Amino acid sequence: MKTLVFATNNQHKLKEIQALLGNHFTLKTLEEIGCTEDIIEDAPDLEGNARIKARYIKEHYGLDCFADDTGLEIEALDKAPGVISARYAGEQRSSEDNMQLVLEKLKNQTSRRARFRTAICLILDGEEHLFEGIIEGEIAQERSGDEGFGYDPIFYPEGQNQTFAQMSSEAKNAISHRGRAFQKMIEFLNG
Ligand code: IMP
Repeated sequence: MKTLVFATNNQHKLKEIQALLGNHFTLKTLEEIGCTEDIIEDAPDLEGNARIKARYIKEHYGLDCFADDTGLEIEALDKAPGVISARYAGEQRSSEDNMQLVLEKLKNQTSRRARFRTAICLILDGEEHLFEGIIEGEIAQERSGDEGFGYDPIFYPEGQNQTFAQMSSEAKNAISHRGRAFQKMIEFLNG
């Protein structure tokens, strides 16, 4: 059985991925390996930030690991907020303020096309592997639903007449950016 560090402290995310990996791998969180440092994610893109986190764990703890990073990319805003999705409206990292800013910026735009994109960097046996997951969709005119988090209330995934925040977590995970990226990594790991 191999140990892999998932560069997160989100137990919910960890359990979900552990269940998909079966018993070939044991996952550990940052807390479980004693990593309490704030890893500075200052790369210009999602892949870069995922790489920064994964390389940090490998360099400081010598363990195989993976890290993910997600952003909302809006076509009319030149792919903003992208890498700064969590703090688009400021360091208070408020989802409400972030959604408000997106809705304001799109007021006079004709295109509302957007996508969520997740990048994962896996470091295994000294080699780096990147995985990507994308869900295309549109930004709504107003918020709907109260499930999920972040920009979920204003994102309509393509082909659905519900926002992510109106879907169950199972339905969202089955088609989401993160779900797709992790599915690719899991197929790779489970061979
Ligand atoms: P992270 O890389 O998973 O921490 O995501 C960065 C930011 O992107 C979050 O703080 C959210 O604002 C946004 N985000 C990521 N995933 C989702 C999602 O599934 N729904 C809505 N917003 C998301």
